[in-house]
Amino acid sequence: MNSSFFFTIVNVLTFLGVLGLAAQAFIGLSFFISSVWEKERRATVFAGVQFAGMTALLIIYLLLVGRGFFQTSPGMVVLIAGCIMVVLAAVFMVRKTAPNRRALRGTPGYIVGKVNRFDERMQVFARNRALSPGSEQYNEFYTDHPELEKYDSERRGRGGPLGKIGLIDRPHEGPNVAATLASLSIPFNLSAPGIVKPHSHPLLGDKKIHLSPEEATTRVKGYAKNIGADLVGIAEINPLWIYSHRGEIFHENWEDWGREIPTDHKYAVVVAEEMSLDMIGSAPHTPSVMESMKNYAKGAYISTQLAAFIANLGYEATANHLRHYTAILPPLAVDAGLGEVGRLGYLMTKEFGARIRLSAVTTNLPLIIDKPVDNGIEDFCKICKKCAACCPSQSITQDNEPKEFNGTLKWTLNDETCFGYWAKSGTDCCICMKVCPWSHARTFPHRLIVWLIARNKYVRRIFSVMDDIFYGRGPKPKVAPEWARFKN
Ligand code: SF4
Ligand code: SF4
Repeated sequence: MNSSFFFTIVNVLTFLGVLGLAAQAFIGLSFFISSVWEKERRATVFAGVQFAGMTALLIIYLLLVGRGFFQTSPGMVVLIAGCIMVVLAAVFMVRKTAPNRRALRGTPGYIVGKVNRFDERMQVFARNRALSPGSEQYNEFYTDHPELEKYDSERRGRGGPLGKIGLIDRPHEGPNVAATLASLSIPFNLSAPGIVKPHSHPLLGDKKIHLSPEEATTRVKGYAKNIGADLVGIAEINPLWIYSHRGEIFHENWEDWGREIPTDHKYAVVVAEEMSLDMIGSAPHTPSVMESMKNYAKGAYISTQLAAFIANLGYEATANHLRHYTAILPPLAVDAGLGEVGRLGYLMTKEFGARIRLSAVTTNLPLIIDKPVDNGIEDFCKICKKCAACCPSQSITQDNEPKEFNGTLKWTLNDETCFGYWAKSGTDCCICMKVCPWSHARTFPHRLIVWLIARNKYVRRIFSVMDDIFYGRGPKPKVAPEWARFKN
């Protein structure tokens, strides 16, 4: 090898070193800017230190380049060893490790025994909202389930599963409770029987508009996004995720109570909307419940219009939203490829983590289905456990592995203690959603981290620890936007 070739190699490596260190400093700077924007004080300090460290290293390196250090024998050794280490570290972090095969199968990957369809009458909200003491349905239900009457009567005495709304922020909760109830009125108004199960518009009559499944899918997904959906996926419905019997009644349509729910729709269009980081950041205070209700209202708006659109094409469609469910949405969302269910029991997406609300439309319109995804969430949840550590009612299990419940593997949540905390705070808490490392804003550095942890199991272990360092193991509630403040 002649010496000019050798020096060319050294010059190229020296230049790559400048690029590598500049990239590190840029990532540190972007993390610093992101943390300031996210109003994360602790992360701002750590990101600032990281940025300053990488910038100092870059300056020292440039000084050494200027003095010709890397043209000397010891300098070349340092340079070559540094380049080898950086390349090895990059390959180690970027390569794709073995996928989670059961995640890639969607919910069937987690079915390990006999699954019984869930009766909506057993659902805690249905029990507390629909059944009035003394009514025929009340007597029938608690004759069959006497063990639940004590819990439910106590809840009714406190004002329902949410207790006295806004209790945690008294005496300054008034405006936020008013806003919460304003949003909540939308799903109620959009849950009348003719709205959730629409007929085609009289101007269109019963004529079907024939579309190929490909075109129908493009139009349905495009329409859903155009009216406000952030994510849309399509699943072939597994009937196990359809409630067996109707239990929630909002419009005095009592003939529906206890009616068997048919499983005649083949497809579910599942929709997710992002929840604001600023509002969820203040969990468990009233801005977080305002944000939940705003997104339930959006879900009602999107799902009922989408159902009407499909009905106008000449097909059956049923909207599923906060005040009308025929299906359990997280498993449908998993099968529709929107994400995986995490330790905290919510759907977790690659795009927004658990910071979403779901709604859906079931239909017999032929559509093209999406494939389930593996973003490494099951593996990450096995290591992280931050939601369990921060849950004020210890409702989230710390078990390493998901366990069998009703024939499926999952991390079970203690509903009774979780709702007990809701009643104490008068909000839907959302602490688990707020502290989850997947809930961070999707700024450049967080996108890069999500990309890496979705690919590589070793990176998951590194970033689970890093999240605790940068954000703390038990983050405190953040200050809400001025218009939603809950303290004077
Ligand atoms: S906080 Fe951690 S353990 Fe809990 S759902 Fe999020 S990633 Fe999983
Ligand atoms: S909502 Fe709150 S109480 Fe319920 S599981 Fe999450 S952190 Fe725990």
